[in-house]
Amino acid sequence: MAQKFKNYINGRWENGVTTGASENPSDLADMVGEYSRADIKQTQEAIRAAADARGAWGGSTPQRRADALDQIGSEIIARKNELGELLAREEGKTLPEAVGETVRAGNIFKFFAGESLRIGGERLASVRPGVDVEVSREPVGVVGIIAPWNFPLAIPAWKIAPALAYGNTVVFKPAELVTACAWALAEIISRAGLPAGVFNLVMGSGRQVGQALVDSAQVDAISFTGSVATGEQILKATAARRAKVQLEMGGKNPLIVLNDADMEQAVECAVQGAYFSTGQRCTASSRFIVEAGVHDAFVSRVRDRVKALRVGHALQRDTEIGPVVSSDQLAQNLSYVEIGRNEGAELVWGGEALTRDTRGHYMSPALFLAQPQHRIAREEIFGPVACVLRADDYEHALSLANDTPFGLCAGICTTSLKRATHFKRHIQAGMAMVNLPTAGVDYHVPFGGRKGSSHGPREQGRYAAEFYTTVKTAYTFA
Ligand code: NAD
Repeated sequence: MAQKFKNYINGRWENGVTTGASENPSDLADMVGEYSRADIKQTQEAIRAAADARGAWGGSTPQRRADALDQIGSEIIARKNELGELLAREEGKTLPEAVGETVRAGNIFKFFAGESLRIGGERLASVRPGVDVEVSREPVGVVGIIAPWNFPLAIPAWKIAPALAYGNTVVFKPAELVTACAWALAEIISRAGLPAGVFNLVMGSGRQVGQALVDSAQVDAISFTGSVATGEQILKATAARRAKVQLEMGGKNPLIVLNDADMEQAVECAVQGAYFSTGQRCTASSRFIVEAGVHDAFVSRVRDRVKALRVGHALQRDTEIGPVVSSDQLAQNLSYVEIGRNEGAELVWGGEALTRDTRGHYMSPALFLAQPQHRIAREEIFGPVACVLRADDYEHALSLANDTPFGLCAGICTTSLKRATHFKRHIQAGMAMVNLPTAGVDYHVPFGGRKGSSHGPREQGRYAAEFYTTVKTAYTFA
């Protein structure tokens, strides 16, 4: 019998109004479970519960918050293999990638356990005699968390953990493709001793549950990660009611390879950054910008490496690239392969639907030679599809790298300190990598982008305090 995943509202597990199925993209015959879809009324109940709990949690001691977050983080890490298997089964990244994500989620909770003990303030002398000035940080209130499917444990963790650490209450809405992971995380949080209403899980569609969160006057802040189209709608709606908002959206991340690069290292950075996790990372490299002197050698080595990648069931030990997450995403990826061909880009390898022993959403990783104006070189595809652009020299490569509406992450492979330093200063991106893949970041430092990729304060590390707290300046005359 399929496992059933319920919503968690005001400290109780509740059925929804309808149900949905969570599938295994590696094997469509394997149903991961059945989840309850909340409606607008249940979402509003969760919001009310979170609003009622704000006083108690906002006024709780940092020690209590630290203990709860530490307990959650420790349990996630202790159960990394089991949770990693669930994640690989539901989202389709390979088992080692999924276990890695699970450990990262646990570490994030433990990091913010410490941060709840380090909420600081300032005391300054006033410009007026006899007056003291104190600057302190307070919780924002009720935070609505809207997450995508591609990091089902890590992204919710990097939003829920700081929200709770800084004394906010939470209504969490996961993507419908990964409700088993969301439920597993909520189940762990439900046993951490939080008062009823402090943390709520509501599963369901973006149009109903997500929109109800965005529109509610009782939700003080929205933290969103997902597509640009949804982010833009959320920005308009939250601006209209002046709610605090943080958006992490798409990318079209470049990796520059210069003539002086260590070629083996550059090929590994390219392959790992573009194709691992099936290219379904917002920080994935999708444009390799290669200096003319090494262009042909780079293309030939990447093609050989990509040809040899083993695409298969996410839980099989020798799989390097799992399936695409859903039939819609697979159709989108394949349609971009068609678009690339039709606009005159040269397909060097891959880009085809594959069959395996189990029925799933498999495709071969695709490598194109493209021109900067091609749509496949400008639009986010969010799959294992990358293109190579030829650059005359470093300056040309940098200008191609910056010629995009996005600005999440960017990388360079070079042995020149001068070029690496220049790149770090002049690349228009929130994160810059030197001789490293664009995807793969630490959990204790800020994460986020510029231009069309992000809006609002950074996530993660101690910079998360900017979003999850509000500042008060108090004056005392004594
Ligand atoms: P999506 O925008 O379709 O959905 C994201 C979430 O928003 C889901 O929970 C969805 O149900 C909800 N939603 C949809 N419509 C809504 C509405 N009208 N109101 C409120 N909520 C709504 O994105 P996705 O397909 O789940 O994720 C893929 C996208 O996420 C890619 O574009 C990727 O680049 C981006 N992403 C960005 C980052 C980052 O940090 N920059 C990280 C991971 C993924």
